[in-house]
Amino acid sequence: MTRPGVLEQVEVPVPTAGPGEVLLAVGAVGACHSDLHVLHAPPGLFPTPMTLGHEIAGTVDSVGAGVTGWSAGDRAAVYGIIGCGTCRGCLRGLENQCRRIPPGGIGLSRDGGLAEYVAVPASRLLHVGNLDLTQAAPLTDAGLTPYHAVELARPALRPGTTCVVIGIGGLGHMAVQILAATTAVRIVAVDSSTAALDLATRVGAHHVVPAGPDAVEKIRELVGPAPDGADVVIDCVGVDPTLTTARSVVATGGQLLLVGLGGGTLPVRPVADEPPTIPLETSVTVPFWGTRAELQEVIALARAGLLTADVQTFPLERAPEAYDLLRRGEIHGRAVVVP
Ligand SMILES: [Zn+2]
Ligand SMILES: [Zn+2]
Repeated sequence: MTRPGVLEQVEVPVPTAGPGEVLLAVGAVGACHSDLHVLHAPPGLFPTPMTLGHEIAGTVDSVGAGVTGWSAGDRAAVYGIIGCGTCRGCLRGLENQCRRIPPGGIGLSRDGGLAEYVAVPASRLLHVGNLDLTQAAPLTDAGLTPYHAVELARPALRPGTTCVVIGIGGLGHMAVQILAATTAVRIVAVDSSTAALDLATRVGAHHVVPAGPDAVEKIRELVGPAPDGADVVIDCVGVDPTLTTARSVVATGGQLLLVGLGGGTLPVRPVADEPPTIPLETSVTVPFWGTRAELQEVIALARAGLLTADVQTFPLERAPEAYDLLRRGEIHGRAVVVP
């Protein structure tokens, strides 16, 4: 990102690992919708020029002063958030709740992974064993974010309940697998693309519903009429039509998790004398990314063969094309750039 809104391929010096840092040879880096938000954010919010890319896996090239536990050749995934370390969220280990604005992170407040090398604090690295790096990279965000959402809703995800996942893209197809691997809920996947619904079925969805005007009725056939409904709804898109579907199928006392940053609005009017927009006792959560401990668990799921990213790889030269396809909604699963 050479200046706000402008993505260019340029030669930059190979970074060096400062004290406490590791220089990583980037093996793979996921292309995330959030990169587009960073690219088009108001000038001044993010530094420029800055290398984007916050979903990174690679091989340790060298280590800076004071680093222990890592040496050249080690393979690692990168936890992308760099919390301030002193706020209430960070002190509780919830760096994804860091009160610092804008959020500190690799590819957010300092150079990221869309390059051959990236320097990161050693504290951000997690071992990935023999996982393929194109698989490890998407775990750090496309895997971690829905895992964190599932963690937040876990008390409600009891055997026999229903979870609706809206949007089977980079995050949604991971959400389905995480639910299938760690719960005994009935999984209903919603998407406008037939290919995405086929992917959902392959990775563990029990029912698939095409997005559109009939989606609510089709989901209601599965979960019954209000005040019954889906116990948990995970919206990985977050535009007005998906938020409308989400609030129209969630059960009384259910949970809505708004994972996608699509710019939609969720009206909340629980009164009885007007048509309510959301059922009584329903809670709404806006999860953000996840914690380091959760990333370790996501990696464990993948190493156990229970979580596999559906990836479409691009060489570094074609990274701008990957983002164009992402912007147009033409990526199935996750786009991963391989420097
Ligand atoms: Zn992201
Ligand atoms: Zn903090």
